[in-house]
Amino acid sequence: MARSKSSTKPATKPAPEVGPVPAPPEPISADIEANPFAAVNHCFDLGAQAAGVPADYRMLLKTPYREMRVEVPVRMDDGRLDVLIGYRVQHNAARGPYKGGIRYHPQADLDEIRALASLMTWKTAVADLPFGGAKGGIQVDPKGMSENELKQMTRRYTSHISAILGINRDIPAPDMNTNAQIMAWMMDAYGEKYGYTPGIVTGKPLELGGSPGRESATAQGLAYVLQAAAPELDFELEGARVAIQGFGNVGSWAARILHKMECKVVAVSDVQGGIHDGDGIDIPRLLKHNNENGTVTGFEGCDQLAPGELLTIDCDILIPAAIGGVIDAEVAEKVKAAVVAEAANHPITPGGDLVLDRRGIIVLPDVVVNAGGVIVSYFEWVQNIQEFRWTLGRVNEELERFITEAWRQVRVTSLQERLSLRIAAYMIGISRVMEATRLRGYV
Ligand code: NAD
Repeated sequence: MARSKSSTKPATKPAPEVGPVPAPPEPISADIEANPFAAVNHCFDLGAQAAGVPADYRMLLKTPYREMRVEVPVRMDDGRLDVLIGYRVQHNAARGPYKGGIRYHPQADLDEIRALASLMTWKTAVADLPFGGAKGGIQVDPKGMSENELKQMTRRYTSHISAILGINRDIPAPDMNTNAQIMAWMMDAYGEKYGYTPGIVTGKPLELGGSPGRESATAQGLAYVLQAAAPELDFELEGARVAIQGFGNVGSWAARILHKMECKVVAVSDVQGGIHDGDGIDIPRLLKHNNENGTVTGFEGCDQLAPGELLTIDCDILIPAAIGGVIDAEVAEKVKAAVVAEAANHPITPGGDLVLDRRGIIVLPDVVVNAGGVIVSYFEWVQNIQEFRWTLGRVNEELERFITEAWRQVRVTSLQERLSLRIAAYMIGISRVMEATRLRGYV
């Protein structure tokens, strides 16, 4: 990795240098490695310990407030009746309405959704948004489904969870395999019962009250964090060789934005496989290829990669932007990047974290790096409530302000408390939720 010559220097506020960041205690149990909710709770425990949260409050803050499980019957186009299972987990609302995406994925079981809901609680608190944390999803592989089947499934799921949604109660958004069209169907299905309520979901199409910049927000936020972190953590962005796992909303926008910032995107992958070109991939042409073929594989002039190969490719910055748990201890031993920026949620297991830390690889954690999505969702909700449209310039200006400030606080806390960036972020989030809980007199 092309580390710059200058010494580490915080951009906005000087912070004391305290030497190497201590790793969390070993060993990591098999359950923590295998179960996403246990993995998030492992980080929570370390953050809560650093924040000085008493044991009984730790149990309170870890436990989801409400978990809803619903059947989702769908009449498939061939006449078959499929009965799918959907969830909405509301984790914590001490700081404001529950907020979190909807995922359609075969691995979206209750523990995955709980993990993602908990992450949202800490993420909205780190970004200092007036929201709590939630997540929802349907355990399904939507890839082969027709538009009619997807629409039916979305409307039925929305109708079944609608009793616990509300503009000041719980506001869903897109996540894996859901997009602006799915949000439009959710808004309409909710509106059928409760009347026109555009602010009930974020990530909507612009025509229905969506915000400029919401689609690119997660990747744009990641770019702002990289810009702030590079001079402080002593790595170069210009000319940096970047590898991106996942080429959906977050991955493809990250490729587009980093390409414009003069990074060299050398490898990308999706669920079907990956491509590699050490001289840098022509991203505008790749975007066209992906639009036409629905995959990055088969793109001319590149070497083809097997699924998973991307994570250990020779590069400077690795951006996992697909599913969770992909970098475990074994993969972490083989990572060649100097920086891993977590665009996906919990892509690194606690065991992987320990290995990357021992190897001196910088990990920029999900709870701050991918917060751009929920930050601009907050702006969309604000615009819906005010019935006033912001410009793209204003959205990105405010996004940069929010996420750079969150990054600065995480970095300073990490130095002052001698914690990894991840545990520092958890410490900040947990302290804020704890304070809100105390002020409310909740227990
Ligand atoms: P998406 O559905 O638009 O894209 C997912 C991409 O990952 C696709 O290209 C898919 O082919 C690929 N993929 C799936 N499984 C894979 C595998 N095993 N190996 C390689 N690639 C694989 O989803 P998205 O919205 O871009 O979300 C990606 C990640 O970012 C998720 O972890 C999500 O929780 C996180 N995230 C998304 C947002 C958002 O605003 N959309 C915000 C914060 C975090």
